[in-house]
Parts: sequence; structure tokens; C-alpha cells
Amino acid sequence: MYKKLFIPGPVDVDPKVLEKLATPQIGHRAKEATELQRSISENLQKLMYTKNTIILSTSSGSGLMEMAIRSCTKKRAAVFSVGAFGDRWYKMATSNNIPADHFKSEDGEPTTPEMVEEALKTGKYDLVTVTHNETSSGIMNPVYEIGQVVSKYPDVIFCVDTVSSLGGAKVEVDKCNIDFCVASTQKCLGLPPGLAVASVSDKAYERAQTVENRGWYFNLVSVYDKAKSAYQYPSTPTTPHMFALDYQLDRILNEEGLENRFNRHIEQAEIVRAWAKKHFALYANENYLSNTVSCILNTKGNGIAELNKELAKRGYMISNGYGALKEKAFRIAHMADRKTEDLLSLLKEIEDIWGL
Ligand SMILES: *Cc1c(COP(=O)(O)O)cnc(C)c1O
Repeated sequence: MYKKLFIPGPVDVDPKVLEKLATPQIGHRAKEATELQRSISENLQKLMYTKNTIILSTSSGSGLMEMAIRSCTKKRAAVFSVGAFGDRWYKMATSNNIPADHFKSEDGEPTTPEMVEEALKTGKYDLVTVTHNETSSGIMNPVYEIGQVVSKYPDVIFCVDTVSSLGGAKVEVDKCNIDFCVASTQKCLGLPPGLAVASVSDKAYERAQTVENRGWYFNLVSVYDKAKSAYQYPSTPTTPHMFALDYQLDRILNEEGLENRFNRHIEQAEIVRAWAKKHFALYANENYLSNTVSCILNTKGNGIAELNKELAKRGYMISNGYGALKEKAFRIAHMADRKTEDLLSLLKEIEDIWGL
């Protein structure tokens, strides 16, 4: 039996979008491939509020995160973390021999503009990474305010992980001064896993041209060159996902509309937060809560794995706490095309199972 996925990716995919994956194949150097990529780029620029160049990657989002930190760090990276995915940037840096420092916030607390300013003032760094929406802790960081700080340092490349927010929460790339903004398709964009997207500034590209050992597959310079000059890629991209993405972007922008989509996610987040506070407590600082996933403290000491087993029988799935928060917290995500009525049914089922 299929379960409705309330996990923070992969998400349920609309049947009409799934059908697009079965579009007859085209040559990846053909004119149709160029037209497809042009259409996706123009629509992603609207979704991301940017004039920057759009690149796609036949990988999950982590591939483009690694591309960003490896291709754009010449001196030293300042990695800010509020959970597991923030920590991932640091592992990417160290495993690629990239000098980096790791700045972790207190549990449940955001990355603040002050922390970033403090680090950049030292003059040691030429790249900053921030997680917009930390899926492990349910924190949404103030990327606009952080971007204003970074903009005072013209030599610093600002990389932001919007993997679990792009398409669900407003991310204004140009206003936030983001040089490299990454997302995956299997979260708020509502596609199957297998494709990642990013917007890349000229500044990030120019930096990458000065960096040695960028690797081959995730070499920003070659990917950017081909995307910018021909709307194509150095190697064969996943055209099935591209057909589906092109269609889904049209649904997002023209059927639902961006503001409606963002507001739907906010409304659902408010429902989950109110429910969580009534029965449990939220993990994150209340001023920095995610609009796409809530991390709820398991204050009653219930069995989370047990809950999921029971939910499975009823056709639902949620997420346990991540890493050290396993069984200590649980997460309810509502991403992509999730309907509010389904979320309300899920909460009722949990109330029924736990006798809340
Ligand atoms: C899921 C996730 C990632 C990893 O994305 P993949 O597509 O699995 O590589 C990175 N950052 C955040 C915030 C995520 O939620």
C-alpha cells in the first residue's frame, strides 16, 4: 500500500507530473533539449527571484553543494550550521582538502547575522555557507539579514542550501545577495529524486575560474559555460526529470501561483505548530521556525518508530528525529503539493493512535 509521505523528502508526486517522466526521449544535444532547458531556466529565475544563471545537475542536491564549496573556495570557507545538513558542508570541505571552519549554533538556535559578521571581520574567509531551512532541526535561518552582512564583503561568495525550502518558502536570491543557491527536486518542488538545481552568480563563476582542482563532474566552470552558452550540459542530463520539472514549474507559477503556494505552506506550518504546542513542544526557537517541516519534541516519551508502524497501516508516514534526536523528537513535513486536508487527517490519526 502506498503511504502519504509527511517526511522531509522524497515527497508525493502528482500523477500528471509522474506521467511527464515517460515523455519520449530527445537527443541531449538537440534543439529540443536547448528549448527545454531555456524554459526551465526562465521559470526557475522567477521562482528564485534572480537574474543569475540557472544550472541543473543530474545528482541529488548534495552534488551541487559539493560543487559550490569545492569550486568557489580559494582561501577558506566559513561553514555555519544549525543541524545535520549544515554539518554536511563541513564534511564536504574537509574531505576535499578545502580549508574550512565550522560555526555551530546552540541547539535549536539559528545562524545569526552577528555570528557571520564576527567571522567575516577576521578577513580569513572568502566563502560562507548557510542552511536556509535545516530539515533536521526545523529551523529557518534569516538569510536576508545574513545576506546583507555578506554583501559588505565583496570578496566573499555566499552559498545557501535551500534544498528543503525552495518552492515552499519564498527565497529571494538577488535580494539576499546569494551567489550559489542550491535545491533538490524531491522536496518542495514536488518531483522524484534525481535532479538538483542552482542559481549561480557571475561572481561565483569568476571565483571558480581561479580555483584549481575543481574535479570534473561537479566542475562549476564547465557546467556554467555550457548552460550559459547553449542551455546544455557537459554530460548527459536526466531529460525525463527535465520534462517533469518544466511541467511542474508551470503548475507552480501559473496554476497555483507563488504567493498562494508559500501561503499554503505557512498555513500548514501554523496548523502543525499549534497542534505540537497543544500536545508536545517545538524543538526550535519560535522566532526561526521552518515553514515546511516541524521538529516536535517527544515530551510524552512515546515510541516514534512504533507510531510510524501504526501509521503505515493507515497509509501515512512521518519522520523520526534526526541523529541524536531519534525517538527524542519527530518531524512532520508538508512539502510540495500537499493538501491541508491530508495534513489534518494525519494529525487526527496520530491523536487516535496515541490517545491525545
Ligand atoms: C535533503 C537535504 C539535503 C540533501 O539533499 P539530497 O538531495 O538528498 O542530496 C541537503 N540539505 C537539506 C536542508 C536537506 O533537507
